[in-house]
Amino acid sequence: MDITAVGGYKAVGRNMTGVSIGNDTVALDNGLRLDMLQMYDADISDIKKVNVEQLIKLDVIPEYERLRNVRAQIISHGHLDHIGALPFTRPRVPIISTPYPIEIGRREYREGDFFAVEYNEHFSVSKRIKVEFIPVTHSIPETSLVLLRTSEGNVVYACDYKLDDHSALGKTDYGRLRKVGHEGVKLLIVESTRVKEAGKTSSENVVRSKLQDVLNFIDDGLIVATTFSSHIERIQMILDEVEKTGRKPVILGHSMLNHTELAERFDYLDMPPDARVYGTPKAIKYALNEVKRNREDYFVLATGHQAEPESVLIRMLEGQFNFRFQKRDSVLFCANVIPVPLNIAQRTVLESKLQSKGVRIFKDIHVSGHASKEDHRRLLELLKPGHIIPCHGTIEQRSAWVALASEEGYELNKNTHLINNGQTIKI
Ligand SMILES: [Zn+2]
Repeated sequence: MDITAVGGYKAVGRNMTGVSIGNDTVALDNGLRLDMLQMYDADISDIKKVNVEQLIKLDVIPEYERLRNVRAQIISHGHLDHIGALPFTRPRVPIISTPYPIEIGRREYREGDFFAVEYNEHFSVSKRIKVEFIPVTHSIPETSLVLLRTSEGNVVYACDYKLDDHSALGKTDYGRLRKVGHEGVKLLIVESTRVKEAGKTSSENVVRSKLQDVLNFIDDGLIVATTFSSHIERIQMILDEVEKTGRKPVILGHSMLNHTELAERFDYLDMPPDARVYGTPKAIKYALNEVKRNREDYFVLATGHQAEPESVLIRMLEGQFNFRFQKRDSVLFCANVIPVPLNIAQRTVLESKLQSKGVRIFKDIHVSGHASKEDHRRLLELLKPGHIIPCHGTIEQRSAWVALASEEGYELNKNTHLINNGQTIKI
């Protein structure tokens, strides 16, 4: 089989890997890397106006055309760095995933030929390739480890995942993984974002006590929290804990509206009856008008954890929506800063502006959605793959995977492989 590194083999984001068996190729993921676009040209507010060649050159989208004879586009989960390039690369083949990511994909790329496959079912891509999705935990509903059953052996694509045995939303199907491991796995293609971190990634459940601690501490002012709009388990937890404080939850932002609406439809989110969601600027202004009159009665959940210029939090800070932060308001960051230079810089500016207004900042009410070193070792033990290709990471991050693999008896260039965007290797 031929494996082609298309995107995500240089930096985090814009993921795509090609797996070819004879004349049949499947593309795994089709992701976007938004920070690059902002970094090169902050004036490009509408990414859809930039041409595809330029987006490839800027490392924003993967070079889909590099793959030949693509029979199917497979999506592992609904994060934009795995699905967000669909409207630009526009694959004209079946786009396959489980139902929830399929709905996210449909909204991004309306003309797509989408097929939803349930867990424990499979989809025949060709005579040589069948695809199956295995449930795993991450930070968005319905994340899957992708199993390709091919005439050349089994391939597992683990990008992204963590092993969270106390998640309220997802479960990793260890039984299935063990069975696949017994059957034999020729190749594991696996994410590298946090393999350098020792130990295991903490369960999402740990966030609850951090959040309770802070909410119990704050006794006045308005509370504004921000987190990933797609992180439904986190949003549910925040809403549940806020309910105990007696404050009314108000959820603000277009992507918050999109994701919460979809998650409710799929029964992944149980919205408290007094929670309200507002997506348009006009509706947000209307909501904040009420909030600012009775600040201590409300809790606002808003977009803006990475200090994105168009986000609700930034616009609130800039005095839009007729809103002003006041001394003794609080902002809770239920998200980490995605460690790329632009985000770090923007977030630093945001925090100092908030502080200059006397706003109290509470940070790191968060755990990662990505596997650490011991989670990865557990996956290795379950699957016992013949070969390993680390993906989704810088060369430094992927090299840390090589170090882990060598502890488990693998050898670089023999059965562990470092490849770069644009390269194809034979396994
Ligand atoms: Zn992800």
